[in-house]
Amino acid sequence: MINVTKTYLPSLADYQSYLEKIWADGQITNRGNLVKELEQELKKYLGVSELLFVTNGMLALQLAIKALDLKGEIITTPFSYVATTTAILWEHCEPVFVDINTQNFCIDANKIEEKITSKTSAILATHVYGYPCEVEKIQAIADKYHLKVIYDAAHCFGVQYKGQSLLNYGDMAILSFHATKLFHTIEGGAVVCKDKALIKKVQLLHQFGHIGDEHYIVGTNAKASEIQAAMGLCVLPKISEIIQRRKEIYFQYKELLKPLSLQYPKTEEDFKYNYAYFPVVFDKEETMLKVKETLALHQINARRYFYPSLNTLNYLPTSYACPVSEDISRRVLCLPFYDSLQIDEVEKIAELVKSQ
Ligand SMILES: *Cc1c(COP(=O)(O)O)cnc(C)c1O
Repeated sequence: MINVTKTYLPSLADYQSYLEKIWADGQITNRGNLVKELEQELKKYLGVSELLFVTNGMLALQLAIKALDLKGEIITTPFSYVATTTAILWEHCEPVFVDINTQNFCIDANKIEEKITSKTSAILATHVYGYPCEVEKIQAIADKYHLKVIYDAAHCFGVQYKGQSLLNYGDMAILSFHATKLFHTIEGGAVVCKDKALIKKVQLLHQFGHIGDEHYIVGTNAKASEIQAAMGLCVLPKISEIIQRRKEIYFQYKELLKPLSLQYPKTEEDFKYNYAYFPVVFDKEETMLKVKETLALHQINARRYFYPSLNTLNYLPTSYACPVSEDISRRVLCLPFYDSLQIDEVEKIAELVKSQ
């Protein structure tokens, strides 16, 4: 069975050496030494000033919305993982969907302004597959209307944009370190920002809103454990190798699939990719479904990611039309893509895709 992704697992000996430290310390959660060490290492590697490691990406999104005290309407993208939308709903705000662009499937910045009302408090957009949103345009709109900007950067581990981390754009960005992501801590995530006071607030919120006996605000529990941090500390030293290997596979796929007229997300700007996903957009949904089925017959699992377009979820308070997102989400398929995928497996997958 070839799955769409395969979690990178460090050597057991590496992981065990961290477990021994944890056992020696006797502390397995509540901001232990390994959590703090991983945060320092991540800040260095990613090139960001403030970062809080939390238990998953969903809670990171919720904490960002809470920390910025967002109310009312939040402008967002229909082309993302469902968590982007449900985090807004979970925090009692209303998602207002703006369609995506056809280049890299991120929110279309030119269509944001017409959706702003007196109730709009923020823009929450996803850097889809790690490709950057139109961050300058979005910031200009946010400045003009006094809106906050949060980026769902779950796919952006290590992505550089115009010479710095893509995570440095917007008021806040969140990462996911889920086992299916490029860098992982089993389950995990992070909130990133530039403002020290803001990250302090996120920290307070993520530990029930109190420090010792002093209770300040209504909080939740999003604390990461030492067991999660240990996994991150084992994976991080390998991440350059992992990305390099993915880059090779990416170009192998591209070369092998050249004869087909497939569409790929792209970005013209100065940008360094992390090779997080390998999405291909087929000419029509029928072709995509046939390819998916053929792969499945050969024990190969490709994923409709993202599908469905989030503006079509049946539990939304208001319905929106987003024709571009609905169209792309019907035709897109993410092919198996991970560092240990073998050349002959890539060749086999490409052959099956081409046979349609
Ligand atoms: C994975 C993902 C999330 C959720 O992260 P978890 O760590 O699984 O909670 C949110 N948004 C996007 C775009 C994702 O891909």
